[in-house]
Amino acid sequence: MISRLCESRSLSLEEYAQLIDGRDAEAAALLAARADAARRQVYGNRVFIRGLIEISNICKNDCLYCGIRRSNAGCARYRLEKDDILSCCEQGYALGFRTFVMQGGEDGYFTDERMADIVRAIKARYPDCAVTLSLGERGYESFARLREAGADRYLLRHETASPAHYARLHPKEMSFERRMRCLQDLKRLGYQVGCGFMVGSPYQTTRDLAADLRFIEEFSPQMVGIGPFIPHAATPFAGRSAGSAELTCYLLSILRLMHPAVLLPATTALGTIDSAGRERGILAGANVVMPNLSPAAVRKKYALYDNKLSDGDESAQGVESLRRRMAAIGYEIVTDRGDHPDTPSTII
Ligand code: SAH
Repeated sequence: MISRLCESRSLSLEEYAQLIDGRDAEAAALLAARADAARRQVYGNRVFIRGLIEISNICKNDCLYCGIRRSNAGCARYRLEKDDILSCCEQGYALGFRTFVMQGGEDGYFTDERMADIVRAIKARYPDCAVTLSLGERGYESFARLREAGADRYLLRHETASPAHYARLHPKEMSFERRMRCLQDLKRLGYQVGCGFMVGSPYQTTRDLAADLRFIEEFSPQMVGIGPFIPHAATPFAGRSAGSAELTCYLLSILRLMHPAVLLPATTALGTIDSAGRERGILAGANVVMPNLSPAAVRKKYALYDNKLSDGDESAQGVESLRRRMAAIGYEIVTDRGDHPDTPSTII
């Protein structure tokens, strides 16, 4: 099955499920070796860095897994203003970052007007940089206005491709169809789009994971973000077990073989669950790392899950140390935008 995945870049739902359930150390090593070869053909040994700016932990949604959900009264809320964000970019630029990712809860303060103004300001000061947004669900017109303002990429994990599983992770007022529609809208508007899911989230079955893989195969995004689910003590999923680094890495290898040119981060959650998670992710086929560029004073407040890393090598200021860690396993952190080779050129 691994050989067939390498050749046709595609498997059926049943086959993905079998590949997951039948895994052992030997299959994982073979997948990782093939994934590494596929990645080297497109990107060599280059690893791209993205500066992650967590602009607000205020959120109107109540996702059951997330530590910044609106019902978590114990969460100390914050929001960055335009000037704070620009100063993060200034520091990030000096450190060699050429992509800025603005991520946040669904905070009504960031209207299209305010957000477009921030995107325009960043693009005016740093025309050689890519701007990525990860601000949750918005309407088509809103995505269009932000794209017009200069946003290049949008990260919106689909979270799960199974409607029944989606309903167990989210409150009733949130909809699977709406999330999927947002992803289609983003693609139509010419964004480089990232989807993704958590590994080992509550109630997730092998079939759900196989459905995620089928969806990603078909949707063919430029980026895919996956990381282990990690419980947060102040959510309904407190005390649940976390997802594993092992399965996350196995899935990273499958994703690399399915889409050889996809931009695939070794995520913070992977680094949190395993101190060698970043390296393990890269060796399995990931080619992106996203250190934290948020101001030190708010970093700990963007607590999606317990013990989330934000200091040391996880911070943008730790990029030199990260560079050494990557070099030690044969990979080179580079300073460029790191666009997908099939970047849409349509500016609407
Ligand atoms: N509001 C934005 C950003 C969400 S935070 C949005 O809706 O897209 C980014 C991602 O963190 C989420 O998409 C989710 O997959 C992940 N995440 C949230 N809680 C988590 C947890 N407890 N463990 C692991 N990952 C989590």
